[in-house]
Amino acid sequence: MNYIDNIVFAILLIIGVGFFARNVKKLIRNIKLGKQLDRSDNSTARWKNMAMIALGQSKMVKRPIAGALHIIVYVGFIIINIEVIEIIIDGLFGTHRVLSFLGGFYSFLIASFEILALLVLVSVIVFWIRRMVLKIPRFWNKEMKGFPKNDALYILYFEMVLMSLFLIMNATDVPFQQADAGNPISQFLVPLFENFNAGTLFYIERTAWWLHIAGILVFLNYLYYSKHLHILLAFPNTYFANLNPKGKLNNLEAVTNEVKMMLDPNADPFAAAPEGSEEEIPEKFGASDVADLNWVQLMNAYTCTECGRCTSACPANITGKELSPRAIMMKTRDRLEEVGENINKNGEFKYDGKQLLNDFITPEEIWACTSCNACVEECPINIDPLSIIIDLRRYLVMEQSAASQELNMMMMNIENNGAPWQYNQMDRLNWKDE
Ligand code: SF4
Ligand code: SF4
Repeated sequence: MNYIDNIVFAILLIIGVGFFARNVKKLIRNIKLGKQLDRSDNSTARWKNMAMIALGQSKMVKRPIAGALHIIVYVGFIIINIEVIEIIIDGLFGTHRVLSFLGGFYSFLIASFEILALLVLVSVIVFWIRRMVLKIPRFWNKEMKGFPKNDALYILYFEMVLMSLFLIMNATDVPFQQADAGNPISQFLVPLFENFNAGTLFYIERTAWWLHIAGILVFLNYLYYSKHLHILLAFPNTYFANLNPKGKLNNLEAVTNEVKMMLDPNADPFAAAPEGSEEEIPEKFGASDVADLNWVQLMNAYTCTECGRCTSACPANITGKELSPRAIMMKTRDRLEEVGENINKNGEFKYDGKQLLNDFITPEEIWACTSCNACVEECPINIDPLSIIIDLRRYLVMEQSAASQELNMMMMNIENNGAPWQYNQMDRLNWKDE
């Protein structure tokens, strides 16, 4: 490698990492558009969740075939990319397989990477067959048309190409590297190249090497636009997930205090709650747009893997209703991206006449939810679509009185009669006289 190669490599690296850093900054800015929420409690349980669910993938293996394949791809892909350390050193300093001085340990590492590369290759092919040949229904719901469908396929192709390049690089490097030619997988590719002269082999090896590192940098930058952002976000997402028992809804402090005040004859109705406190009356009850959701809900949207496990367990979806919890997460992310782009363009958010509710998620969808929590239970990375549904409903009920007639009637009865039924409290025990 001459100096020009080193300079080109350094420029490629700086551009690749620079764009990635820019996207990470945008991602954090967008997540911070959400409302404050304190999830700093119970750090032991949170670390445990992260270790078990994000690192150990304990919820993935509930579906054993997909779970096992996912673990292979995840572990394989991460470990093989340790090789990138050597590629970066070689690229910057013009060395060739700089870590080969590690001798037997180096050969062991390369051999392990090759076995993992083959396993990853086989797993992504199986994933492709499950999607495209077996057509597993959850990959073919209506929200999985267009980019979401292609996105999943792009990454599978990407992984196939990256793993193949890694093996070709090793197979064509045998004459040049000091390491032995008996690498467990690439040795079977060596015969394909045995009639090539040294010059051609050199160019094939270099091409595979450059494409491999360029592919990794492209992959890194593609993450922001893809459902594969979960590779990074699954960790904070599981750490900051809700630890309350499922089914326990958060109370709106402002509403609770309002009710307490109504019941307390000594309360001062004009006493203002301290600014920024939870008791302070919010500008809006519930959520109609992404900025009304909290930052964990927005992080959830970016973390969703679009696997559809939630939707395939959702009773509303199964019985043919409009609702798909996966679509709730995807639409929240779409709207958040739209708001982020608006800020990029105008320096701050400029009213665009749209909002999450109605323009992205319809009332029909959110009222179809039974609040059963199956989606939360099924999600392999502890995403909570239900919390978004509940906040949107709160807005409809408290800000617009836009609940269904039956629900409005029930709420009125609770208010007037202390029970959901339409009869006086005094008549409650009449049934015993019949
Ligand atoms: S909580 Fe709602 S969205 Fe989630 S599975 Fe149950 S019905 Fe579906
Ligand atoms: S919310 Fe969870 S279960 Fe549903 S599609 Fe996203 S990652 Fe999968």
